[in-house]
Amino acid sequence: MKELEFEEDEYVILSQDKMFPDSILPLKTDEAILTNMNFIYIYKNLFGSIEDIKYIPLKDIQIRKKEACVSFCKKHGMLYMQLSLIKSNFLFGIDYTGDMFEWKYAIKNVALASSEDKRVTRCDSCGAINSGYEDQIITCKFCQNQIKI
Ligand SMILES: [Zn+2]
Repeated sequence: MKELEFEEDEYVILSQDKMFPDSILPLKTDEAILTNMNFIYIYKNLFGSIEDIKYIPLKDIQIRKKEACVSFCKKHGMLYMQLSLIKSNFLFGIDYTGDMFEWKYAIKNVALASSEDKRVTRCDSCGAINSGYEDQIITCKFCQNQIKI
């Protein structure tokens, strides 16, 4: 059985279950994890066992005009999130559509920060994703809380 592996300085920013892959009649049993370094897609079977794990380094997500290329698209009559990578695209869906906006926002921010060699952290007051250089003190974009990166 496959197991998740994290790199030394890797930490989780967002994780969620009930994800589904690019397929006509997908089981909605997969899981995804966004870390400060990777987008990790975990293929699970009906019994919750891991079938496969795909690690997508955030640095592989294309950046155009200072924006990470993460978008929505329709396929098989469902809404998917599309990560535009250097050589291909990766699609996945989330059973609860409302969560797609949070994921899109998070991946865009973390991928851009990673392309600028910034560190990402969540505000301990409101949970928003903020980024900056190591040891820098920044003000949260949403609640004005002071955060040390
Ligand atoms: Zn905040």
